[in-house]
Amino acid sequence: MIARTHDLAAITALGVVFVLMPAQSMSLATIIIAVLANLIGGVTPDIDQPTAPLWKNLPIGKYFGKVFGHLLGGHRFFTHSILGLALFGFLTHLLLTFLQPIMSSVNIDIVWWSFMIGMLSHLVMDTFTKEGVPWLLPIPIKFGFPPVRAWRITTDTWVELWVVFPLLIVFNIWFYFMHYQQILFLLRHVISS
Ligand SMILES: [Zn+2]
Repeated sequence: MIARTHDLAAITALGVVFVLMPAQSMSLATIIIAVLANLIGGVTPDIDQPTAPLWKNLPIGKYFGKVFGHLLGGHRFFTHSILGLALFGFLTHLLLTFLQPIMSSVNIDIVWWSFMIGMLSHLVMDTFTKEGVPWLLPIPIKFGFPPVRAWRITTDTWVELWVVFPLLIVFNIWFYFMHYQQILFLLRHVISS
C-alpha cells in the first residue's frame, strides 16, 4: 500500500490503543514524539523500495534506496517480517535509550510502543494486498488475507484510494464518536504538562 494509507492506518491503530489502554499519565511532549514515531514506524518497512518517501526526499535517495533494498533482500522481504520487526524494535529501543537524557519529559516506553504499533500496522495492512507478507521469514512464504489472492487489494489502485482509505477515515470518526467521554477524560486527566 502507499505511504498515505500506511500513515493513516498507523495513527488509527495508535489512537485505538491510546483510548482503550490509556497510560496513567503522559506529557504533551510524549504524545507529540509518540505520534511522530508511530508515523515513522508506519512507513519503515517500505525503506526496502527505492520509491519510499524517505528516499524520495533525499537528493541521491533513489540510489541509496536501491542499495538498501538489495541489502534487505528486495521489496516485501526482511523489513516485512516478524524478524524485521524485532530487529527494528531493538534498534529503535537503543536509539531512544541513547536520546533519553536530552528528552527527560518524554516517556520512551510509550514512544517505543507507538513506533512498534506503526510498524506492525504496516505489515497487517500489506497482508491485505496481492503480494502478501513474508511474516515468518526465513520461511519464504508470503501470507495474505483473504487467502484467495484474487480477492486481495492491488496497491495504489482505486480500491486502496477510494475504499480502504475512506473506510479508515470512517472507522476513526465512528471510534472517536463512540469513545467521546473517555477521550474527554483522557484529555483532562492523563495529559500532564
Ligand atoms: Zn510495505
